[in-house]
Order: sequence, then structure tokens, then C-alpha cells
Amino acid sequence: MENRLKPMDAEQLREYGHKMVDFIADYYKTIENFPVLSQVEPGYLRNLLPDSAPNQPDSFQHVLDDIQAKILPGVTHWQSPNYFAYYPSNSSVAGFVGEMLSAGLNIVGFSWIASPAATELEMIVLDWLAKMLKLPEDFLSAGQGGGVIQGTASEAVLVVLLAARDKVLRRVGKDALEKLVVYASDQTHSSLQKACQIAGIHPENCRLLKATSSTNYALSPEFLSETISQDLTIGFIPFFLCATVGTTSSTAVDPLLSLGKIAKSNGMWFHVDAAYAGSACVCPEFRHYMDGVEVADSFNMNAHKWFLTNFDCSALWVKDRSALVQALSTNPEYLKNKASQANMVVDYKDWQVPLGRRFRSLKLWMVLRLYGLENLQCYIRNHIKLAKHFENLIAQDPRFEVVTPRIFSLVCFRLLPVRNNESHGNKLNHQLLDAVNSTGSAFISHTVLSGKYILRFAVGAPLTEEKHVNAAWKVLQDKATSLLAESL
Ligand code: PLP
Repeated sequence: MENRLKPMDAEQLREYGHKMVDFIADYYKTIENFPVLSQVEPGYLRNLLPDSAPNQPDSFQHVLDDIQAKILPGVTHWQSPNYFAYYPSNSSVAGFVGEMLSAGLNIVGFSWIASPAATELEMIVLDWLAKMLKLPEDFLSAGQGGGVIQGTASEAVLVVLLAARDKVLRRVGKDALEKLVVYASDQTHSSLQKACQIAGIHPENCRLLKATSSTNYALSPEFLSETISQDLTIGFIPFFLCATVGTTSSTAVDPLLSLGKIAKSNGMWFHVDAAYAGSACVCPEFRHYMDGVEVADSFNMNAHKWFLTNFDCSALWVKDRSALVQALSTNPEYLKNKASQANMVVDYKDWQVPLGRRFRSLKLWMVLRLYGLENLQCYIRNHIKLAKHFENLIAQDPRFEVVTPRIFSLVCFRLLPVRNNESHGNKLNHQLLDAVNSTGSAFISHTVLSGKYILRFAVGAPLTEEKHVNAAWKVLQDKATSLLAESL
């Protein structure tokens, strides 16, 4: 066949690449026409696609047509300006072209030698970002520490937990595994629990300490201290504390300094998860939420959430990289090379779970270069301004309340229960969520705080403007009016 698609051909790549970029640009132009939350039923795609792969090649146009007709209806549009659910996952022109270049080069940079630029650019870019966040110098690559890009915050907490576990076991003996205890608030992301499961930490030794509205859902240092003392009394070994800047449910900020001091005085590893809110801390006015990071052993933020860097790009810094390497390194014959043997280089395979790794630093580097710090700060500030605006809209409608103080760009709110009937209030808010999301014109998510069903409105999609926030609020109000009328 004349026009057969070759495995790789520069001219075909040009042709298909241009067509695909046009397709994606058109998608962004028309993104508001799609229902934000996909409205398909489970299993919808089985009926639309054949049972097995084709024997003969299909045409590119045919595939694009199928994407339009069959795939896009099953997509939830995270980049839609009407997306306010969970936390954002930003795409940007810079992030996109960086991702494109990474796909184009398609290297697998496990060791320095496997693509020196991949390792070196990652070190440099994470030093840049560390400086933007005003992280202490110990986290920079010039000393004993350094940064690494993980796929997700879940992998970040897993690798530091493994490093901390092995570090303490070297000290107390490996038979002590069942005595190791991990601490965090019950607002901590479930990825910590998963990491404990993988690391062999006994589930009953995972202390998820209750955080209440009295601390705005932040972990209380007194409670932590008491729990650690009790554990020590019965011969347990506290070894890991995870604090969060910007919890998943409500953006609670744990008091890093007080917590960190407790961790340090007990010889524990102190990890800070700032997966979402870390991005805001590049603005001087929000940096104080990270105060106390000086005493942390590791710090993580997801550039792929709210920092214009396409998924996936989770930045992790450690003060002592040797702890990671001791826990995760292997040195098989087939990977040996002069630079690694001479200890002249960083081999990121020893800082992560998989061996293979993508050239992710390209997209982060492009984001930092093509936008620059000032634009990134404006970007964050604008979303926070829009969240404040939404908060003000709620305040003007006595049927609603803001449930926790807004700190960043997430507003936690609810429709007030009628006649103080809390369980009916929970049902009402659940119904409101479903009613709004089923319109397809806005997508919000929920959480439960102190037994109350809460709605979450997270501003952070790159295309969101005030008019989108206003439109979402109008839908919320209209649906609330109908629901309240029905429940009379
Ligand atoms: N930590 C926090 C505070 C989060 O909000 C999230 C996800 O929203 C995570 C961790 C997990 O993120 P990831 O999907 O990168 O593992």
C-alpha cells in the first residue's frame, strides 16, 4: 500500500502530528460544548467498538472520527472552564508542547548514561522550583539532598516511607517492623495508607489522628505528642509523620513547625504533602503556609495539579538522598557503566519504584521558561480571586453556608438543612450535587466533614473566568430552588 503508516517516518509524523494538533486545538475551541462530566453509562464503549483489533490498518481520519463520535462522549473534561471538581489537573500550551517533545524523543532515562540531559535537566529544574518555593538549601542538589520528579504524590509518599522505614530498621534491627508506627491526621490523603500497605507497616500501626473543626481540620500537635508518648510507653517505634499543606477534603493546613519539632525530637522522618497547595506557595503572600518546612525531611507538590504542567509531574525533594538510594537501589550487571560506578552522577532509577522513566522535566522546564514566575503567580492569584468571588456569592444567599474557611482556591459549602434536620440536609446536598452535575454545565465534587455532606468548588482550570463561576452558581441556585420546593 502506497500510503502505509511506517513505524517512524519524519514526513508522516509531520502530517499526522499537524492533523492531531489541529484536532486538539479544535477540541479546546469547542470544549464548552461538551457536558463537563461525561454522561455515559458504565460499559458504553463495548457496544461501540469491535471485539478485536483490526488485521489491516485503518485510516487516520477514520480513527479521528471514532474519537469524536465514541471516545469524547466518554471523556470528563478536566480542562473545561466549567470544571470545579476534586482538584484541577492543568494543561497548558507550554506543558503540552513539552509533553510532545518528551513523547517525540521517547527516551527511557533510568540512569544518567541512558540520557544525560534527562537527569541533569531534572536536577536543574527541581532546583529552580525549590528556589521559587523558597525551600531550604538542604533540598537543593548541590548538597546531600535534591529533587526528583515522581509520577504522582502517591509514589512520592511511598518512596520516602520506604526510605524512612529502612533507615529506622537499620538502627533498631529488621525484626522490629511490626513495632513501627506512622502518624498523620485523618484528613491525610489515602495515598499514605496505601503506601503503608505496600511498605508492610501493620495497618493497626497507622495512626490517623482525628482532626476536627476546632482546628479547621488541621492536626493538633498536642494530640500528636500524646499519641506518640502512649506508643513509646508500650514499646512501639514512632518513625514517620506526614503533614499536609492543603488537605484533599478542605485544604486544611497542618502546623508544620510544631509538628516537625515533635517528629524531630522523636527521631522520626517528617514528610510534607503539599500536592495541591504547594503551587500557591510560589506567591510570597501564601508562602507562610509552608513555614516549618525547614524541619521536614521531604516535601512534595504536584506541578500537574495547579501549575500548568500536564499530568504527570509530581515534584519531590529530600534532604538526604542517600536514604532513598539505600532503600531503592539495585545494581545489576546489565546497567553498570563508568559514570555510575564512579559515583559521579545521579541515577534516578534509585529514587523511584520503576526502573524506566520519562523525560518529564522537559515540560516543567518549558512551563517555567515560557510563563516565568510572575505569570505563574498571577495565574494562581486569579484562581484564588475567583474562589473568593464564589465565596461572596454564597454569602449573599441565606440558604447556603460556607463550611470551612477558604484558604486557597477551594470553597467548601453546603445548602443548609431545613429545620436543622442534618440527615435530611446530607441527602439534600447529595441530590444537589447530582442535579448540578447531570446538567453537564458544571462539575463539582463532594466530601464529608464531621458527618456533614459538603460540596467542594475548586477553581483551577486554566480557562476558567468569572463568567464561568457565575454560571455555575446560577445552576446551583436554580437546582437548590427546585429541590427545596420538592422537599416542602
Ligand atoms: N495528596 C493530596 C493532598 C492530594 O490532594 C492528592 C490528590 O488530590 C494526593 C495526595 C494524591 O495525588 P496523586 O494522584 O498525585 O497520587
